[in-house]
Amino acid sequence: MIRFDDVTKTYMRGQRPAVENLDIEFARGEFVFLVGASGSGKSTLMRMVLKEVNPTRGTVYVAGKDLSRIPSWKVPSLRRDIGMVFQDFRLLPSKTAYQNIEFALAVIGTPRKVVRRLVPEMLEMVGLEDKGKRMPHELSGGEQQRVAIARAYVNRPSILLADEPTGNLDPSTAGGILDLLAEINERGTTVVMATHDRAAVDRMQRRVVEMVGGQVVRDEAEGTYETHAPVSVISGHLPDDSAHRDEHPLEDEGLAERWEGVPAERSPVEGERAAAGETAAADDIAAPAAAAGDVLEEDLIDEREAQQVRDEDLFTDEAFSDDAFSPEPFPETPLPEQSEGERR
Ligand code: ADP
Ligand code: MG
Repeated sequence: MIRFDDVTKTYMRGQRPAVENLDIEFARGEFVFLVGASGSGKSTLMRMVLKEVNPTRGTVYVAGKDLSRIPSWKVPSLRRDIGMVFQDFRLLPSKTAYQNIEFALAVIGTPRKVVRRLVPEMLEMVGLEDKGKRMPHELSGGEQQRVAIARAYVNRPSILLADEPTGNLDPSTAGGILDLLAEINERGTTVVMATHDRAAVDRMQRRVVEMVGGQVVRDEAEGTYETHAPVSVISGHLPDDSAHRDEHPLEDEGLAERWEGVPAERSPVEGERAAAGETAAADDIAAPAAAAGDVLEEDLIDEREAQQVRDEDLFTDEAFSDDAFSPEPFPETPLPEQSEGERR
């Protein structure tokens, strides 16, 4: 479903890579936690899946397609099949819960009949059937995140990327959000969740991929938040400070060596790899995405049919087509790749 083939991303020349020699695969239907200190490369990994960030070296495949070969006009259709949820919710502040979900359908020209069915269905799925008329500021953090999840899922994406979705929520609210993501996963969507939420990871017992300094240092099929290895990276023994790391690259080299020396307590596979001097890779754990290319072809055919229906409907329905052409930049217009760097 998602495959990184020796991927390195360096944002700025001369800086250490945000992600380095990444070789990993996430299979269709998997639920994967990405853990690691801030600055370890989790968001960069996700943004490469969306093609918001392009690798400096190596290849990213989504549903069997090499993303570097997808022409820019097809990028929106790639993103349509990938839902994204953020720590800070990112709802449109001047639209109601209902309208926020509706908007995700409007921007792709979904017929109004379909919208009228899908939005209430989504509100119900996230437990907000009676709060569709609320504005985001009239909702709690947990409720806002539920709306954001409904919006991300309403197009039934085959992949949902969640970047620290429970980071702003109290533990019990976070638990509800996690349940929702688990339900979406059970319905067949591949979920990749970057998190510092120890309780979430420990409760789910799903695959855990841990990153340090842009590299995968742990990949366990049914992992916990905390590594079983002697040096725990995410529990604060090491600096959680990428700026500091950038100035002291040798510290990371030392870290890599320490990791290579880590013996068997992690998992048998990893222990063997570490002993053989290899870094963790996913191939034993993640089944290869079966006939992913075929699936995408099917999707594209469906897509074309759906588009015909939309085109027919869109232009006969003025009220709705206004909405569909609204200039608000969600969700098809990504931030320019450099903008985050410029803001720093
Ligand atoms: P995480 O999500 O694990 O906190 P990120 O992927 O955001 O990690 O960041 C990894 C590294 O890349 C950090 O050193 C960060 O400062 C750097 N980085 C992230 N985004 C940009 C950007 N747009 N421009 C320059 N450097 C960036
Ligand atoms: Mg991040």
